[in-house]
Amino acid sequence: MGSWLEGKTLADKIKEKVKEEVAGFQKKMEQVPGLVAILVGENRASKVYLRSKKKNSEKLGMRSEILNFPEDTEASFLKSKIKDLGQREEVDGILVQLPLPSSLNSNEIITSIPPEKDVDGFHPSNLGNLLMNQDGLKPCTPSGILELLKFRNIPIEGKRVVIVGRSLIVGKPLAAMMTNENGTVTICHSKTKDLPLVTSEADILIAAIGRGAFITPEFVKPGAVVVDVGMNYLADKSKMEELFGKDEKREKNIEEKGYTLIGDVHPQVIEKAEYLTPVPRGVGPLTVALLMRNTLEAFKRRRNLFST
Ligand code: NDP
Repeated sequence: MGSWLEGKTLADKIKEKVKEEVAGFQKKMEQVPGLVAILVGENRASKVYLRSKKKNSEKLGMRSEILNFPEDTEASFLKSKIKDLGQREEVDGILVQLPLPSSLNSNEIITSIPPEKDVDGFHPSNLGNLLMNQDGLKPCTPSGILELLKFRNIPIEGKRVVIVGRSLIVGKPLAAMMTNENGTVTICHSKTKDLPLVTSEADILIAAIGRGAFITPEFVKPGAVVVDVGMNYLADKSKMEELFGKDEKREKNIEEKGYTLIGDVHPQVIEKAEYLTPVPRGVGPLTVALLMRNTLEAFKRRRNLFST
């Protein structure tokens, strides 16, 4: 039976440090980092994430704003708004909440964010820096995963790392980071043949698929470290009970919110793995903490307050 590798403790530590630094800049310079988030349309999950990002930045003493545009917003309008934000001195971070409506090309919109304000780390220039193993703003979820492994002294060097999912948000940047840390990396996706055969070679297995409880014990090598990035909304109470047994908290979530959050990894995997990150309280809190740290970092870089 393995242990839960929760992310909340580290996330709180990272946020505490950001808060202290922000307070220091407020005192010394009477300036604090400012984050602007753009939401297009009415995606319910996106609204929840953005509210949490706004609440977190305010708790840490930063300024935060959410701009919500209608579903039918045109690319040219959005890009001109981003250009304005790029010129606003007090705006340090700009993020565009994904997914965008299908009428918009997210690569085109993200590329219009000035790289020095791209706190999600998705701009080609920031992704390029990552591939070159150079400094730059790095994507938050993969950075959070790396920090968690380091925080818990889980070695990456020389390990077989298998990542299921090749998105630009998680899988691909994570593969670059793991390679930079001297892991031996394999990326899998929906066209991968014999997936359980590949994943069961992993010392470190990362699931970023978007399919609830997809990774069952047969995908996992005994003693592997398993990181569950997935965030899936499960509304079916009997399916929840099938996965988690009698779980009053999840039952209450379904009754009150209409869903319970589950990962891509089946809960039974804890019996085979050495570590498994839970959902919730695993990778999710780290993503938000790293976004806060990136916003502070963008603030400092733009003012030459440090050079790393
Ligand atoms: P995407 O939908 O962009 O990518 C999913 C990936 O999974 C794709 O590469 C896809 O392959 C692959 N995939 C889908 N089905 C299979 C399959 N049957 N076998 C193997 N591979 C498969 O998702 P994201 O990367 O954006 O997100 C993944 C999950 O992580 C989601 O649940 C999301 O909510 C969650 N997430 C959580 C975050 C957090 O902070 N905890 C942050 C970001 C995301 P292909 O490329 O071939 O289509």
